Amino acid sequence: MKIHKYDTVIVGAGGAGMRAAIESTKRSRTAVLTKLYPTRSHTGAAQGGMAAALANVEDDNWEWHTFDTVKGGDYLVDQDAAEILAKEAIDAVLDLEKMGLPFNRTPDGTIDQRRFGGHSRNHGEAPVRRSCYAADRTGHMILQTLYQNCVKEGVEFYNEFYVLDVLLSEVDGVRKTAGVVAYDLASGEIHIFQAKSVIFASGGNGKFFKVSSNAHTLTGDGQAAAWRRGLPLEDMEFFQFHPTGIWRMGILLTEGARGEGGILRNKDGERFMEKYAPVMKDLASRDVVSRSIYTEIREGRGCGPEGDHVFLDLTHLPPEQLDAKLPDITEFARTYLGIEPYTDPVPIQPTAHYAMGGMPTNVQGEVLLDNTTVVPGLYAAGEVACVSVHGANRLGTNSLLDINVFGRRAGIAAAEYASTADFVELPEEPESLVVAQIERLRESEGTERVTEIRKALQETMDKNVMVFRTEQTLKEAVDEIASLRKRYKNVSIQDKGKRFNTDLLEAIELGNLLELAEVTATSALARKESRGGHYREDYPDRDDVNFMRHTMAYREVDEDGEESIRLDYKPVVVTRYQPMERKY
Ligand SMILES: Cc1cc2nc3c(=O)[nH]c(=O)nc-3n(C[C@H](O)[C@H](O)[C@H](O)COP(=O)(O)OP(=O)(O)OC[C@H]3O[C@@H](n4cnc5c(N)ncnc54)[C@H](O)[C@@H]3O)c2cc1C
Repeated sequence: MKIHKYDTVIVGAGGAGMRAAIESTKRSRTAVLTKLYPTRSHTGAAQGGMAAALANVEDDNWEWHTFDTVKGGDYLVDQDAAEILAKEAIDAVLDLEKMGLPFNRTPDGTIDQRRFGGHSRNHGEAPVRRSCYAADRTGHMILQTLYQNCVKEGVEFYNEFYVLDVLLSEVDGVRKTAGVVAYDLASGEIHIFQAKSVIFASGGNGKFFKVSSNAHTLTGDGQAAAWRRGLPLEDMEFFQFHPTGIWRMGILLTEGARGEGGILRNKDGERFMEKYAPVMKDLASRDVVSRSIYTEIREGRGCGPEGDHVFLDLTHLPPEQLDAKLPDITEFARTYLGIEPYTDPVPIQPTAHYAMGGMPTNVQGEVLLDNTTVVPGLYAAGEVACVSVHGANRLGTNSLLDINVFGRRAGIAAAEYASTADFVELPEEPESLVVAQIERLRESEGTERVTEIRKALQETMDKNVMVFRTEQTLKEAVDEIASLRKRYKNVSIQDKGKRFNTDLLEAIELGNLLELAEVTATSALARKESRGGHYREDYPDRDDVNFMRHTMAYREVDEDGEESIRLDYKPVVVTRYQPMERKY
């Protein structure tokens, strides 16, 4: 076992991790641990753009952006955080431009901007052009630009190092951050990274759904590690379903397609979004559009022999515009569906996309234990975190923004903390939990298989915890997940080796997904209202009196080792906007 010592350790080399690393490396000795090669992180798959009220092509300002974010999040957004997000957006985009990001340009050479769902002029009057983009490869460009700048700054990367545990040590009755435990994929060795501050930037957990836009690697490892150490998870019931995934596959077709003028149509060719959102139409917020699509399907107006999808129609747009602005997604339609989007509409259905919930933080990225108490030295940013700027439903283009704004903030705060704090002593046998976990899986003679349990988990999540939920479906999910967790105890793997044992890691990742799915379904069952991405058919209205509050879930273990989930709540921060009825 090797022990390393750094001031700051960052877990994850996606947009949030690398943006943090650029700041933190300038101020403290920093290591970035990543299970993937940095440029393979999911940020690289982001297509449509990054929001900022630059007002390059239309009148706009950060206050309108703040309002749209709060309304988009169905008033569960912490408004102090949303103000920071919208205000700092402008510098966040300009910083990336200075770092070399090749944004699309207007004819006079400024950064071009396009429309995106829920972004509006003057509090909902009409759609506004706020998304800065690089064709439909914005995330790819962000990731490459950040990586180049990390190399320039001399950031130290540990690639293919899986972080499996976070170490906390008690000092004078306070649990402080001591470091992390990582597994080196190439050698199978355990490494301890002692650190004064740790930033989790390990991304989302969308792989507990089957039809999902998320990469295979989005298994919520950071959230699960924190959870197992008794740290809370916030608002896990809020998961976003993006309206336009490729039918049956879930591969994403960016909302930018509708931003460029694409239209959703049912089997009669009707532009159905006009009924549900008269002003914003196809550019209403994602929760609204996804529900509208399923309403069309349920009422018999879906397309195809099984009536199980609708169409994204781009045929009225000039091919030159599609080639210049949406080259990748039009190619996806050709490759995966054999459809020519110049001439034919593309079959789509909603796809699991984004975790609004995660590790609770304040606006400096410090991880919270409850409403106000921070865990000294522990930070989180990006999709793993819940700050909460997305509330009950994230607006498109606000996540690439979130990772840049709060990645930067966490990087600065963590490095500054490390410059004044002392190292905390490592707990005794810091590797013990991880070794036990690995040995159990490696030595197990059990009859259960990872692939089968994962399939069953994804099926129950798709069936019961998707766009429409009820008490009955959620109870079914909670029971099914509990029984899958029992079966998981009996799981075994074929590869018993040490080097590049992906079999072992997939088993560990499945364990993480099971735990997070249980928190998600349990939190959803307790929220007896409909808000943003959480729609309860048995409670179809938003209930501000009882539920305008964040869920805080905690893992409890009794004397016999029995686990349970305790739910608590914390108030939403309201600064400017009192909740109103949400119309698009
Ligand atoms: C297909 C797609 C398109 C999208 N398009 C847009 C868009 O146009 N605009 C927008 O705003 N948002 C978009 N999003 C959302 C947005 O891209 C993501 O929310 C955001 O990029 C997440 O960034 P991140 O840095 O938090 O995580 P990621 O980019 O997912 O990076 C996570 C990092 O953590 C590392 N990691 C994970 N687990 C471990 C572990 N156990 N040990 C060590 N390292 C670990 C990984 O190696 C990786 O480097 C899109 C998402 C998808 C899936």
